[in-house]
Formats: sequence, structure tokens, C-alpha cells
Amino acid sequence: MESIGGLGAHVAGQILAEAGVLRMGFNGANFSSYGSEKKGSPIKAYVRFCAADQEVRTSSPVDRPHVVAVFHEGLLKTEPVLSGLLPAGVVIVNSAHTADHVWQSLGRPFATVGVVNALAIAVGERSRVNTVMLGAVVRATRFIKPEAVRDVIRATLGERYPQLLASNLRAFDRGYRDLLLEDFSSAAESVPQSYVRPAPPFGYLDAPLGGAVLDPGNTVLKDLSVSRNGFLPAFHRGKCVDCALCDLVCPDFCFVWAVGPKPDGSEAIHLKGIDYRFCKGCMKCIDACPTLALTREREEEGYAEQHSVPLFPRLEASRNGAAVRH
Ligand code: SF4
Ligand code: SF4
Repeated sequence: MESIGGLGAHVAGQILAEAGVLRMGFNGANFSSYGSEKKGSPIKAYVRFCAADQEVRTSSPVDRPHVVAVFHEGLLKTEPVLSGLLPAGVVIVNSAHTADHVWQSLGRPFATVGVVNALAIAVGERSRVNTVMLGAVVRATRFIKPEAVRDVIRATLGERYPQLLASNLRAFDRGYRDLLLEDFSSAAESVPQSYVRPAPPFGYLDAPLGGAVLDPGNTVLKDLSVSRNGFLPAFHRGKCVDCALCDLVCPDFCFVWAVGPKPDGSEAIHLKGIDYRFCKGCMKCIDACPTLALTREREEEGYAEQHSVPLFPRLEASRNGAAVRH
């Protein structure tokens, strides 16, 4: 399961493993691999199953998966989600697009592609993306019984959060039922996936002398848009009084300001808008704004690109290939 922190892939992996091992008698294992354990950063949750008479003899990451579930479509741009996918494996993507569109954007893999609009279902059922994706994964595996997973969800949520149980069971069922699977493994243009073991850029034999860091972290070049979970702050200039409370609470300095004229002819600083490249959708600015000039909206495709105000215009110019003077 390829996900970002906050979408619940780790819990989904645990529930799936528990259903297979404790309710159905398979041997199995699961664990998750986090980066900085921060909301919005990429995480991977791995689940392995073997028949009851076969031991699971490895606890390393799954590098040749049969099923890959992508909890956030933005990860298709930033993570090698198909690396090692077995021939005719299954890729499930949380997406509002068609399976054909997703297949094309994945590079036309030799695979079955499944799409499920997990975010829309989760919002509609007042649940979370992970439960919907869990339903889709169970359907794709074909050997895990949905009832076994429902039992684990009941046991997990029923005790701790009984008020959330019904909505999560509905979300699970919708993920199972609404998954649209399309087999592209026989399409003439399908491309087999090769497996590339992730490797560090250098090792002890070819590290730069003196331990020099040649590619330091850079907050200007970061792109946090993949961390948004389907919602973003929309800015309404007509209601803004330029009080800057939003900028005070924003952890990622997304707000863009400029000097402009006041009615009396003098000059003042005005809020121009938001650079959505740096916005992770935490919504702190919405709570801070006293005039409703910022509202929480579902992120429609293309909205961020159309409404973003660049914080670093020269960076945008260089990304677009224009000549840049430093
Ligand atoms: S939601 Fe608001 S506070 Fe949060 S990162 Fe985006 S602009 Fe900043
Ligand atoms: S908090 Fe609201 S009113 Fe104040 S500058 Fe930000 S958007 Fe404008």
C-alpha cells in the first residue's frame, strides 16, 4: 500500500493481515515503513500471505508485489509505485479518473488497473480513505473473504469507537463494490515492469570526499501538494482585510504578499493569494481567518494550478524553461 501519512494505510495493512491470519488461517506478516512519520510524507504498508503450511520466512519490504494499492493519486508523480509489480499484477488507484486514463498515466503497465474514488466515498460515508481502499484491495486479492475483514473492523472499531463502526463498514462495502477493474495485460501496447532495487546515490566506495553534502534539502524546491487530502483553502480577495493572521499560523509560508495602493494614495501590503505548491492542506489558515476570506473546499482537478500565485516567480520561470537572471 503506497500512501501518505494521515490516510491510514498502516491501519489498513494491520486489519488486512489480521483478517487473513487470525480469521482465515493463512500465514502472514505486515509492517509499515515510514519516513519522517509526519502527516503528508510518503509511507508504505506491506502485507504478505502464505498458505497455512508455508512459513513466511522474510520480514523485508515486499519488492515483487501482486497487488499495489495507491491511496493518493499524487504519488503516481513522485513514487515508483509500479516497481517490481509482477506480470499481470493489479494496481488499484484512488482516483476519480477512468481505469484507461490511470493506465496511460502509469506508463501502460502489463497489469490489471483498478480505480475507486475512495476520497468521494469516504467523504460521503463520513469515513476514511483507508477503509474504502481496504474494500478495493480485498476484492482484488480474491482470496480474502470480505466477511473476515468486516469481523476485524467490528472488533477493532466496535470497542474503541462504536459510533464510527456503521460508517466504516459502509465505506468498506462501497470500496469492495465500486472498484472498477480493467485488465490491460493483453493490450498490445502494455509494457512489462522491471524491478529496480532502490539504492542510495552513493556508498562507501564512491562517497564525496570529506562527507560533503552535494544535494542539500531545499524548502524552495519542495512540493507539498501531494500531501493534501482532497481539500484546500480557497482565497476570496473581496472579503480579505489583509490582517495576516493566516500567514501567522501557516506552517509552510504559502501566502504571497505584494505592495499595492490604498484608497488614500499611500501604499500598503496586500495579500495576493496562495502558492498551492507549498500548501499541505492543514487548514490552520481557515480557522485563523476572521472574515471568511478563506474557505475549505474540495480540491477539483486543475483548481490549484489555475489559482496558485507563485511565491518564487523566478523558480516558476526556470521550471518553464524561460531564461532566468540571478
Ligand atoms: S492549508 Fe492554509 S495554513 Fe495549511 S499549509 Fe495550506 S495555506 Fe498554509
Ligand atoms: S486571515 Fe483572512 S482576512 Fe486576514 S489576511 Fe488572511 S485571508 Fe485576509
